[in-house]
Amino acid sequence: MRISGHRLHGERVTYRSSPNHGDLFTPPNPDTVIIHYTACPDAASAIATLCDPERRVSAHVVVGRQGDVTQLVPFDRVAWHAGVSRWGERESLNQYSLGIEIDNAGQLKLEEGRLVAWFGQQYPQDEVIQAVHRHQTQLTSWHRYTDTQTGVVMQLCRLLMDAYGIRHILGHDEIAPMRKVDPGPAFPLDAMRGQLLGQALPALSPEAARRRTVS
Ligand SMILES: [Zn+2]
Repeated sequence: MRISGHRLHGERVTYRSSPNHGDLFTPPNPDTVIIHYTACPDAASAIATLCDPERRVSAHVVVGRQGDVTQLVPFDRVAWHAGVSRWGERESLNQYSLGIEIDNAGQLKLEEGRLVAWFGQQYPQDEVIQAVHRHQTQLTSWHRYTDTQTGVVMQLCRLLMDAYGIRHILGHDEIAPMRKVDPGPAFPLDAMRGQLLGQALPALSPEAARRRTVS
């Protein structure tokens, strides 16, 4: 994969334009990537939602289970994925960040011995892990990401770091902890940050870091 003209190019990449986007970013933004899961039955239904003008949501890219990537918004434009959010002194993270949605059913419920998503689909044991979310205390069930997906997300983040100077990679659950649990404990977010940014936990927001240096 490579980026040119604010678009991703590659064998497994397709472009489908979503009407759901804002203006161009104000440089030096975007400096952040936000990771999400779709909580949809499949990538196609997620893409349909993210392109529906009435839903007013979008993301820059959607990564399918086989590592196929669909770009919906060019990387120089604000997409609508973060919602009400905060990180340090920053609010409404859309204006700072690129959004990566990963095809994954999310947190599953145990119903009469079956592991089901909120939309009713059942998942087999070998596609599920048991883990405690960083904001929860109970062990619960989460749809696994495929190794191909995590590899592609890693590759994408690396490309975005090179092209846009991305310095922060955050989970949706870290910028909207009261509302969101994605990408959740099935995604190796800390390990990926460790490899790409040299530290597992999120750094201070740039504004907070600057203030710390000044005071
Ligand atoms: Zn999300």
